[in-house]
Amino acid sequence: MTDNTIFQGKKAAYFTLGCKLNFAETSTFAEMLERRGVVSAAKGERADICLINTCSVTEVADHKCRQQIHKMVRNNPGAFVVVTGCYAQLEPERIAAIEGVDLVLGSNEKADLIKYLAEAWTEKSGEDMAHRTGAVVSENLHRHHSVRTKDIKSFAPSCSRGNRTRYFLKVQDGCNYYCTYCTIPYARGNSRNPSIESLVAQAREVAERGGKEIVLTGVNVGDFGQTTGETFIDLVKALDNVDGIQRYRISSIEPNLLTDELIEYCAGSRAFMPHFHIPLQSGSDEVLRLMHRRYDKALFRHKIELVKSLMPEAFIGVDVMVGCRGETPECFEECYSFIDSLDVQQLHVFPYSERPGTAALKIPYVVDDKEKKLRSHRLLELSDRKTEAFYRNFIGREMDVLMEKAPKGRAMHGFTGNYVRVELPADMARDEYDNEILRVRMGDFNNDRTALQAVILP
Ligand code: SF4
Repeated sequence: MTDNTIFQGKKAAYFTLGCKLNFAETSTFAEMLERRGVVSAAKGERADICLINTCSVTEVADHKCRQQIHKMVRNNPGAFVVVTGCYAQLEPERIAAIEGVDLVLGSNEKADLIKYLAEAWTEKSGEDMAHRTGAVVSENLHRHHSVRTKDIKSFAPSCSRGNRTRYFLKVQDGCNYYCTYCTIPYARGNSRNPSIESLVAQAREVAERGGKEIVLTGVNVGDFGQTTGETFIDLVKALDNVDGIQRYRISSIEPNLLTDELIEYCAGSRAFMPHFHIPLQSGSDEVLRLMHRRYDKALFRHKIELVKSLMPEAFIGVDVMVGCRGETPECFEECYSFIDSLDVQQLHVFPYSERPGTAALKIPYVVDDKEKKLRSHRLLELSDRKTEAFYRNFIGREMDVLMEKAPKGRAMHGFTGNYVRVELPADMARDEYDNEILRVRMGDFNNDRTALQAVILP
């Protein structure tokens, strides 16, 4: 029996937690299963296969993963349950102990998901899955237990559209940085990447399928080249030459890897949009030092100023972590005023979460949860002010917007090249506008102030 026939007609349900990379990987898993005859279970319909792609960025994320696994087991009695992703890599025993889980795949095994799934499925095919008791621990899981970070070497290619209009092209995986608060290098392994040639081929395929926008994703994309000796800027240049792709965005890039040369190239490029997402994490040099980040405030300011001098209308999103160990009230105030002084447009604020096994636990100064909430709240307010001020510049302007599929019951929306979110009035929205670049006139804010309303120009 081949895996092409054993899954034929089966229904699958997917659940993803965490980052864009996880979402891209889940869509790829779904495509791989689809090619073998698996269809997606409709909402409320019992699935034969449940796949949960987990995240372990915080303790809350771990908790949500366990909750979701329990929920999927409960709602899909007898289904074959596969758990993968960062939390699966970090706590396989705990997940395997959850009743109803059949297979736990670590970072190394993701690339061969179908093979492992087919093996485990065949092994269990004689059993009455609906009446089994307790978890089945697969051979793969035992193998997985002994995997150490440096042994995680496989690269699961992924380029998926999922339910969205934009394609997410995974250009890199893993990280060698070991920031003191982060578990990702343990969960995803060292930095690795496929070749520029193979990524250009994937971008060409997207263009052939009619895709117009690609987001380059990875754990630490700027570190591209550890496997192949190539450089990120060469990848960017090669992708820029792919006919048919009209827009690229870089999902997130470390400030020290966002070289001046790369900023200058993007400013004059054909298709790289004036949109950057740069993790700052803290605007205090002392805290950056404790985090083992590889830059200081001066470098970060230089990058923002260079982007803005070459692309004055660029949108810059910034990640900030609040309440990490060592962040005294003085450090936080320094961070707040630093960010306030920067020409950035949006903050993604994450409260620090203690992660077992990380070096940050050795830092004695601890911030309590109440204080973390207050600090998050202040930064989120600052973020709203900055985004609103930026959006205001475009009211009344004519701009190009790539329209996206409207989620049920929501207004049709899209993004300008510089990432201003735009909404169409209900009477102008058409399904066929999905993935079309339309010329619009930008109007005022929508009711919840999350987008500008716009009308299509004739
Ligand atoms: S750069 Fe730092 S925070 Fe980002 S994934 Fe690597 S270790 Fe984690």
